[in-house]
Amino acid sequence: MITIPFNNSYIKLGDAFFTNTLPTKVAKPECIQFNRLLAEDLGLDNAGLDSLEGVEFFAGNLIPDNMESIAMAYAGHQFGGFNPSLGDGRAILLGEIMAGGQRYDLQLKGSGPTPYSRSGDGRSALGPVLREYLLSETMAKYGVPTTRALAAVTTGEQVHRMQLLSGGILTRVAMSFVRIGTFQYFSGRGDTASVGKLAHYIIDRHYPKVKLATDPMVALLSEVVDRQARLIAHWMSLGFIHGVMNTDNVSIVGETIDYGPCAFMDSFSHSQVYSSIDHQGRYAYGQQPPIGLWNLTRLAECLLPLFKSKDTDTAVAIAQETLMQFQALYEKYWLIAMCQKLGLAHSKEGDKELIERLLQLMEQDEVDFTLCFYYLSQENKDDFQALFTDSLALEKWLQQWQQRLSHEANSQKARALMAKFNPVYIPRNHQVEAAIRAAEDHNDFSVFQQLLDVLQNPYTLQEGKDHYLQPPKPEEIVHQTFCGT
Ligand code: AMP
Ligand code: MG
Repeated sequence: MITIPFNNSYIKLGDAFFTNTLPTKVAKPECIQFNRLLAEDLGLDNAGLDSLEGVEFFAGNLIPDNMESIAMAYAGHQFGGFNPSLGDGRAILLGEIMAGGQRYDLQLKGSGPTPYSRSGDGRSALGPVLREYLLSETMAKYGVPTTRALAAVTTGEQVHRMQLLSGGILTRVAMSFVRIGTFQYFSGRGDTASVGKLAHYIIDRHYPKVKLATDPMVALLSEVVDRQARLIAHWMSLGFIHGVMNTDNVSIVGETIDYGPCAFMDSFSHSQVYSSIDHQGRYAYGQQPPIGLWNLTRLAECLLPLFKSKDTDTAVAIAQETLMQFQALYEKYWLIAMCQKLGLAHSKEGDKELIERLLQLMEQDEVDFTLCFYYLSQENKDDFQALFTDSLALEKWLQQWQQRLSHEANSQKARALMAKFNPVYIPRNHQVEAAIRAAEDHNDFSVFQQLLDVLQNPYTLQEGKDHYLQPPKPEEIVHQTFCGT
């Protein structure tokens, strides 16, 4: 028997916020992966999930008596244009659970149409399910705030995309699936009362401390600004490109959500784009911080009428001041993260320039982002230098870095820092692609499982796993990723 201790709060907000929706049954589900450790962390170890019934549950075929699943309403700016009605078109929120004093949302992705599906089928192909499983679970290992993958199943059915593809369903877990777009849904309808209701709900659930602030709505905005600045800095320090930073894909709690065409960079470039639909490079690697601010500005517009100050000019000035914190916060978090990669516990004057100079040399030579920092952390000078062509410039940089490092009080600590913040392994695009190909073309999930296994310990060099560390050969390079819609 599946026994999930659902403890739902979002549905208490009322009908305007969601539509009751059940998953659509699928023909013949089979388990790809069940995340036992996560289930334990969520207190779901005795929920009966690791069983055939569990597979039926993760496929949406088995509906526990106490389940009140919903599709959430939201809007969003997609590539700069506002769409007032999006919503969970291929996701269904099964409900909320409590674990360790924290509330979590449990969601199926790809479980059939909802009232928000528009012309979509509500389904997901296997590829995006495997991609999200691999990337989100690795992000969690890196300590990046992210939704988690609890289970992945096949459906035994096919989905129509450009071609017929095997279907899959991902069960994912978030601190919350509320997005900036959720606020925009009500704001776009001129329903300020509902924006307020949602804001109070989010404050109670995630930011209770802001209730003490002089103006809780301003304080809420300020907290979200802080979390987004930290999140994006973290992405940047790992070479992660989200790929579709539409406001409906920006979590109100600062988690990485909606893994679509996202990817980790191989060779370093600020203008790197993988998403097949991002023709203008709006969401290129280097664009992520300014787009983060753009998205937060949309949230500020929603919250503005709820500020204590009812004088519009004053309220706008307060919002601008709050938004202006973003750049400084982003730079602070970025500098901390990048300094750690270089073994520097606390940043000093000149560190920013030191980092930027290295990035410049890396970009010039299209150096592999992950490998570069990994070799540096290993003090593997030969391999590190071999990545670059301008050996004179590099030698100069190395001297400057070593000189700076010698000012660190504890060289062992510096080495430990570098080992902690420079992963050996990332879910490289070509490896992810190989895992998807084997699964889709040959029903072989071993490639996926082996990759997932390596990525469980991304900071540890693993014997016999050298090919996971290496960048793609020219013929293996993946130039484009797809959101799988
Ligand atoms: P995304 O850009 O993937 O975050 O999706 C944007 C919007 O399109 C969301 O409202 C999704 O629910 C919806 N959507 C994407 N794919 C599908 C699909 N296959 N069926 C129904 N809705 C979809
Ligand atoms: Mg989305």
